[in-house]
Amino acid sequence: MNKWDARMLDLAALIATWSKDPSTGVGAVIVDPQNRVVSMGFNGFPRSVNDHLKALQDRDEKLRRTIHAEDNALLFAQRDVTGCTIYTTHPPCARCAAKIIQAGIGRVVTPEAAEDFVARWADDTASARAMFAEAGVRVDVCGGGLQVERRSPAEVLTRVKLTDKEARHHSVSAVAYWNNAVAACIAALSVQGGEA
Ligand SMILES: [Zn+2]
Repeated sequence: MNKWDARMLDLAALIATWSKDPSTGVGAVIVDPQNRVVSMGFNGFPRSVNDHLKALQDRDEKLRRTIHAEDNALLFAQRDVTGCTIYTTHPPCARCAAKIIQAGIGRVVTPEAAEDFVARWADDTASARAMFAEAGVRVDVCGGGLQVERRSPAEVLTRVKLTDKEARHHSVSAVAYWNNAVAACIAALSVQGGEA
């Protein structure tokens, strides 16, 4: 995992914290080959669809209504994503994998999945991995795992922003880059989130 992979996974973790799903918040970030953020998404109901507590707590109803994070990121991309990389906080399911492949994404980066997630989605993620392999989409699983639900947005924001020292080593534009990335993130979230 390189520096940019770590940063983008952190950004995906930040986005995941905005999901209203009571069991699993998932975040996804699509970047171009120059590491520019192209789109982002989290799991949730479609815009303006009622996501009151009752619907969220009825598991079957919730699954029927929910758009997955990867799917939302693809839907909100304002451009062709051929050759882009998608960072996700959890391994993509088979349906999202099919859409990721069809959209032309070239690489998928995820952290190692937690045991409870693997137990619930094992068959689905196995199909996804098989399809990615058949389609020639590179999958990188980064060790360490992300504690998405345990982190506050402020904690993650602190991690994705460069420190002053790092900024001096890079350039002012690196700071501007992250500020823009976070602003784009918040703009995307406000559109996807529907009712607050
Ligand atoms: Zn999915």
